[in-house]
Amino acid sequence: MPDLTDVVAQIARDMARAETRGTVASYIPELAKVDPRQFGICVIDHDGKVHAAGDADVPFSIQSVSKVFTLTMALGKVGDQIWTRVGREPSGNPFNSIVQLEREAGIPRNPFINAGAIVVSDILLEGHKPREAIGSILSFVRDLADDQTIIVDSAVARSETQTGFRNVALANYMRAFGNLQNAPELTLGVYFHQCAISMSCRQLATAVQFLAHDGFNPAVGRRVVSSERARRIAALMLTCGHYDGSGDFAFQVGIPGKSGVGGGIIAVVPGKAAIAVWSPGLNKVGNSLLGAVALERLTRAMNWSIFASR
Ligand code: GLN
Repeated sequence: MPDLTDVVAQIARDMARAETRGTVASYIPELAKVDPRQFGICVIDHDGKVHAAGDADVPFSIQSVSKVFTLTMALGKVGDQIWTRVGREPSGNPFNSIVQLEREAGIPRNPFINAGAIVVSDILLEGHKPREAIGSILSFVRDLADDQTIIVDSAVARSETQTGFRNVALANYMRAFGNLQNAPELTLGVYFHQCAISMSCRQLATAVQFLAHDGFNPAVGRRVVSSERARRIAALMLTCGHYDGSGDFAFQVGIPGKSGVGGGIIAVVPGKAAIAVWSPGLNKVGNSLLGAVALERLTRAMNWSIFASR
């Protein structure tokens, strides 16, 4: 087996030089300002050793990567009841699509497309004020990453609040079907702020470690979820974590992952590694172009596909 530190360093060097880098998301104006030449990677192996390279310590907007953390919280709050309001099937549609919602009576296909994540935010908001819900999401993520310095980038949250018309439409549409309990603008306030959390690859790899260790976060020595729940969250990441690019990601990379339009991807190799990569340029379906290339190179070099027998 090649040396992981060398593999990570080589990938970072190659990705820094890559010419085709995708396109930075511009529908959230604040994200359009990010320099596309950046690339970061952090891999935490089974023994907790951290292998970081490139821009691994530069914070970026985690966007939909946050949906893994809010799903984990909502499962803790309402358990399997969540599945009466959100499905568990890949959508085969873009992350912000509204078309399925009409045919499927306001029940989003899965918790990782925007509609599904908005329902998850609505669940976290129930019984709280938006400020409290946002605060508890932030402290959950800070605890997972073992880093109390993590913040919400208010400029990004504001930018999306001013331009997130599709999300406003999704929220109102689901409210019309009775699948949103709170006022749409309050639920969206929570959703936009969770998406605007800023984290580095190092912080994200630490935060997702619990999914590589059957629900136990070794960085803080604490169980986050049961092993069954960890497996199920990872299963959803594999089938739904990259929207209508999920099939291709499973085919090319072969591990559960979750992307965001900020260019981040978190991924896990159960029992072996927790990974975060970041490069702001996106492919046609809104997933980090070089992030996916880097993960493919990594899993190939380390023989880390979850479908490999050894
Ligand atoms: N905040 C973004 C949105 O709602 C998240 C989308 C994403 O990262 N795919 O459009």
